[in-house]
Amino acid sequence: MTWETANAPLDGRWWDAAASRLLEFGARCGLPARDLRALTVLVPRVSDGPWLRAALHRALGGNGALVAPRIATLERWVGMPAGPQTPRLLELFEALRASAWAREAFGDRPGALWSLAAELSRLGDELTLAAVGRDQAFEGRWRDSVARHFQRRAAMAASAQAQLVLHLWRAHCTAQFGAGRILKLWARCLERVDGPLAVLAPFGLPDWQQVLLKDRAVTHPVRAVLGDLSAAMSAHGWLALTWPELADPDPAPAPIADRCEAARTRSAPRLRILATGSLEQEAGAAASEVEAWLRSGVERIALVALDRLTARRVRALLERADILVADRAGWKLSTTSAAAAVMRWLELAGADFRIRDLLDWLRSPFVLWGQAERVAVARVIDRVAGAAALAGGLRAIERALGRLDDRQADVEAARATLARLADQAGRLQAAGTLGRLSGALDASLDALGMREALARDPVGRDVLRELGQLHDSVTGSDARMPLAAFRELLAQHFENTNASDPGVESAVVMTSLGGACLRGFEAAVLIGVDAGHLPSGTEPGVLMSAGVRRDLGLATAADLHRAQAVELATLLCSVPRVAATWRVREGDEPLALSTWLDRLRVMAGQAGWADPVIWFEPPRRTVEARTPHRPAPCAPHRLPDGLSVGACQSLVDCPYQFYARHLLGLRRREWVAETPDKRDLGIALHSILHRLHLDFDAEWLQRMADPELQRSLEQITQQMFGRDLRERPALIGYRRRMLDLIPGYVQWLRQRTAAGWRLQSAEAQFQVTLPIDPSRAIELSGRIDRIDVRGDADREVIDREVIDYKARSHRAVRAAAADPGEDIQLPLYALALGAGVTAASYLSFERSADPDRRFATVQQIPAAEPLGRWVRLVDQRLRADLARIAGGTGMAAIGVEPTCSRCEMRGLCRRGEWGDR
Ligand code: SF4
Repeated sequence: MTWETANAPLDGRWWDAAASRLLEFGARCGLPARDLRALTVLVPRVSDGPWLRAALHRALGGNGALVAPRIATLERWVGMPAGPQTPRLLELFEALRASAWAREAFGDRPGALWSLAAELSRLGDELTLAAVGRDQAFEGRWRDSVARHFQRRAAMAASAQAQLVLHLWRAHCTAQFGAGRILKLWARCLERVDGPLAVLAPFGLPDWQQVLLKDRAVTHPVRAVLGDLSAAMSAHGWLALTWPELADPDPAPAPIADRCEAARTRSAPRLRILATGSLEQEAGAAASEVEAWLRSGVERIALVALDRLTARRVRALLERADILVADRAGWKLSTTSAAAAVMRWLELAGADFRIRDLLDWLRSPFVLWGQAERVAVARVIDRVAGAAALAGGLRAIERALGRLDDRQADVEAARATLARLADQAGRLQAAGTLGRLSGALDASLDALGMREALARDPVGRDVLRELGQLHDSVTGSDARMPLAAFRELLAQHFENTNASDPGVESAVVMTSLGGACLRGFEAAVLIGVDAGHLPSGTEPGVLMSAGVRRDLGLATAADLHRAQAVELATLLCSVPRVAATWRVREGDEPLALSTWLDRLRVMAGQAGWADPVIWFEPPRRTVEARTPHRPAPCAPHRLPDGLSVGACQSLVDCPYQFYARHLLGLRRREWVAETPDKRDLGIALHSILHRLHLDFDAEWLQRMADPELQRSLEQITQQMFGRDLRERPALIGYRRRMLDLIPGYVQWLRQRTAAGWRLQSAEAQFQVTLPIDPSRAIELSGRIDRIDVRGDADREVIDREVIDYKARSHRAVRAAAADPGEDIQLPLYALALGAGVTAASYLSFERSADPDRRFATVQQIPAAEPLGRWVRLVDQRLRADLARIAGGTGMAAIGVEPTCSRCEMRGLCRRGEWGDR
């Protein structure tokens, strides 16, 4: 019997040449020309089948019937089952958790250990295959290689690592897992199958396959048809001169000057590189190329998704232009919204319901299927998040829900949903073992209406299938596992699994670099040819050094790099029209062109070819010039019946801001940030002082000694921050600042008491009616931080003062108090309380600027005198402004700095466009 190889050029001629080689082989094996059923052909990809059948048909003249050979990938032919290798990963994960070396190098982070387990699994397969045909000497070579590449102290670490890898490989190279199983199935398959065997290997045949095929050739004829790049190179002279290392990686190539000289007589490659300045431009460039090709009658176009983010944008632009894209790029499940809904649920359960995550989850279409009030629940929780500085936590959300005055039914629905979530989260947290965790997740999909929602979506079905396989493979497993580690396992599983092909047929196909080769495309766009994306993913892992890998015959980064270069060369040789997009910078950072294409560019410059890099000019669009103007919308019908003091201040600052914030209800979302800001300090200050005056009335405070008062305030501060610090450790700095404010407040309080003032009420709510015309009145409402009174000997009140706390610099507070016509807060408070108010002031808390004096200074800053006049003026102005708005007068954008620089409506009023006009 025979083992033979044949070549076929690695360009557009590949399929026809490969078909001829197979027919020759079949004839030599005595098979009838049109009946190849006895022949088995192994191909690299499932999708190669139709291409080979069509080429065989062409090779036989294109007419008459043909019984095609059996065509399959090696894995399918031997019957290797698809699906997750969870038990194997789990064993490796456990081994890594127990390994001192892994603990020291990677800590106890489940994400890192799962990644390492996956790498170990891949490496184990590589080693098993590399050992095929040389089992005896393999381990010895490995040990020698480690000893040679690592010396002294490094050798100890490398040796521990190598020992672990060797030990785990030995345990896992059995016929139960991965490559070991393929080898066993291969042997079984050969016993069953008779007849000649051929293999198509356009990009080379791995050594282990050669060994197996040669073994088979002892009893049956075997032929391998290999891709011949040198044949493609001689047909495309520029290729051998530009990338000579592709023909032969070892010998030193001729000097580049000589090659450039030789290139003068050769034609340039058909490649245009479109340089762009941004992601949007880059996507636009790719989409424009496709549109132009389609208009000129091109029928098969490949979009090579090197940069996946930009590729997604290209797809969106094309779909906006009604050009459907058949997506064969193999998007990872982890990037889909269906998988994100599952991952978000586990995150919620593990992190006590962070409010942002909860809102994201509630807004996903893959949750709470069939629950009619789903949207209302999301809206209620959204209101909770907007109304309070809330980071999350089920109890805190429930407390905040209790304060809402929404429709009772919606609040009840939100409560019921939270209870269901809490119940399911509790089951997940209590699970403790992998088997129970998987069961709890599976049950929660039903309880939370996720299974039904996922089942109605094609990608959702992929997610359910993967979860089902995972569940089946770990059912009954009693491996101890916290929820965080289970979540990481699932994250990795989704990362390593592609969403299935949605089955769209189109002239435009999104694919990978390898997927675009030898597929008969008439045109191709390489999306993202910067050095970061081409070549991509050529790092073979951290567990074995390049030197050891080379010694053992495993693929190194250089091999993976070269494999992609061969794919690129094949694409350029076989596709008649090729364009590439290059984003020259990312923000301020320049992005270098891929080194291969850069070399091509240098060659073009020296050989007198046209520069392949062309700056992309976006299509020009003409729009009518319009003079920007200051907006002044009218909305009398939107004027509400009630306004807060803050809304009135906004009206004074800028009527347009008032319109956008309070008539349209637009707001910037204030999320609780991990890093606290001044708002948090203000909230803490108000809460602590309010709590002090709630706990102790004025007489009690007077009886307390200073140290006792100070201690009470410190205790309140510690309690108030204690709860929040667990969720936001960065608040610790603000707790210190609050503690530093206490002595200044105690001192001020004593002086105040000595002057005869006592607190009458704190956080006092008010509501007052402001008639704005004979038929209309507005309800003004607000809350005053404190109202102090002073009486005569009979405790008859003769003075009443409103006070507002400010955690700002004294200078800024003084400026505000000095201008009550613009800063109307204090006059409005006085207006609300009526004639009894004789004074109004701010109590300003400023951090000491002196580094030696830690404590803050507290100053009382009165409003400008005479208060009564200012109250009258503010009252008249406010009524007049509101009456004008009610009468249909426009609310002009007349804000000035610094109001505008702090205003979130700046983009809406387009202040930058009309400026001072
Ligand atoms: S940016 Fe200035 S002008 Fe525009 S709405 Fe805000 S305050 Fe008014």
